[in-house]
Amino acid sequence: MDRLTGPGRHRDDLAVLARKAVAVGIAFCAPVLLVIWLAGRGQDPWIRWGYPPLSVALVVFAWVLLRRPRWAGRAAIVTLVALEVWWLALIVGRTAAAPDAVSAWSSLAPTPLLDVVVCLVVGFLFQRTRTALAHGGAYAVAVTVTLVSALARVPGGEAYIGTVLRYSVYLAVVLMLLLVLSLAKERVAAALADAARADATASRMRDMAYLDELTGIANRRRLMEELGHQSGLVTAERPVSVVYFDLDRFKQLNDTRGHELGDQVLRQVAEVADRLVRDGDLLARLGGEEFVVVTPDTDRRRAVQLAERLREALPVELSVTVGASVTASFGVTELRAGEDPAAVLRRVDTLMYRAKADGRDRVCVDQPAGTRSGR
Ligand code: GH3
Ligand code: MG
Ligand code: MG
Repeated sequence: MDRLTGPGRHRDDLAVLARKAVAVGIAFCAPVLLVIWLAGRGQDPWIRWGYPPLSVALVVFAWVLLRRPRWAGRAAIVTLVALEVWWLALIVGRTAAAPDAVSAWSSLAPTPLLDVVVCLVVGFLFQRTRTALAHGGAYAVAVTVTLVSALARVPGGEAYIGTVLRYSVYLAVVLMLLLVLSLAKERVAAALADAARADATASRMRDMAYLDELTGIANRRRLMEELGHQSGLVTAERPVSVVYFDLDRFKQLNDTRGHELGDQVLRQVAEVADRLVRDGDLLARLGGEEFVVVTPDTDRRRAVQLAERLREALPVELSVTVGASVTASFGVTELRAGEDPAAVLRRVDTLMYRAKADGRDRVCVDQPAGTRSGR
C-alpha cells in the first residue's frame, strides 16, 4: 500500500548505518596499530608504547559507538584528554632524554607540535564552541608552560624559549580561527535543526490531513486526490481499477457487541486489506465502514480477483482476531480517463449496493457485459 510516512525514519536508518560503518572502521584500525607496534621495534619508545593503549581506546570507542552511541561525545573527549596528557609527557620525556638543547628541540619538532594542533582541531569537532575554546586555551597554556620548563632544564635550552613563545602566539591564532569556524558550524547546525523541525511539522500536518485517525490508512481527502491523479494517467494499456467495499450489517454488530469492538473490527479490516493490496495501490477509508482500493495497472478482471481475495479473507481473519465473522459487499469498476472522482465513486457505490441487494457478501462488477461474480 502507498504508505504515508515522514522522512524521519529514513534519516534515523542512515545515521545508524553511518555509525556502524565508522565503528567497524575504527575497530579495524586497532589490530593495524597492534601490528605496527609489533613491527616497530627500533621506534621511539614514547610512540611505540602508545600503540597498545591506543588500540584498546579504539576498540572501546567502537563499542561505545555501536552499543552506547549517547556516550560517544564524552568518550571522544576522555580519549582526547588522555592523548593530550600523553603528548605533554612525551615532551617532558624526550627533552629530559636529550643530551643538549639542539637535539631536544629537534626531538619535539615537528610531529609533537603538530599533534598539539590536531588535538585543538579535534576538540572543536566534539565540543561546544565555548567548551572547546576553554579547553583549547588551557591546553595551549599547558603546552607552553611544559615546553618552557622542560627546555629550561636542558643546557642551552633558554635559546629556544623565544621560539616557544612565538609558537604559542601561533597557537592562539589557530584557536581564533577554530573559534570562527566553530561558530559558523554551530550556526549551520542550528539552521539544519530548524529545517529538520519544519520538515517534521510539515510531515505531521500532512499525515493529519491525509490519514484516517482510527485506522491509520489514507482518508477520503487522500483518496479523492489519488483518484483525480490516476484518472489523468488512465490509458487502454494502463487501466486503473477501483474496489469499493462496505461491511455487512455493521450497525447490528455495533449494537450487539459494542462500539469499541466495532472500532477494533474497522482497524483489523484496514490491517488485513493493507496486507492483501500491492505496493502502489492506495487503500483508503471513505468513512464509517466503507473502504476503497485504487489499484493502478489493473483491469476489471484482476480487480475482481483482488476483491474476491478480500471478501474471503476478511471474515476468516476477523473471526480469529476479534471473534466476529464480519463479511463485506464489493463493487468493482475501472476508472475512466479524465473521470471526476465523485463520478467513479457514485458508480462503484451503486455496484456495491447491487451486491447488498443480491444478498451481501459478494462482488459486483459493471463490465464487460455487466458480469457478476461472487456467490
Ligand atoms: P449494510 O449491510 O446494509 O451495510 O448494513 P450496515 O449495518 O453495515 O449499514 P449502516 O449504514 O446502517 O450502518 C453503518 C454503521 O457503521 C452505523 C454506525 O454505527 C457504524 N459506524 C460508522 N462509523 C463508525 C466508527 O467509526 N466506529 C464504529 N464502531 N462504528 C461506526
Ligand atoms: Mg454496512
Ligand atoms: Mg455503510
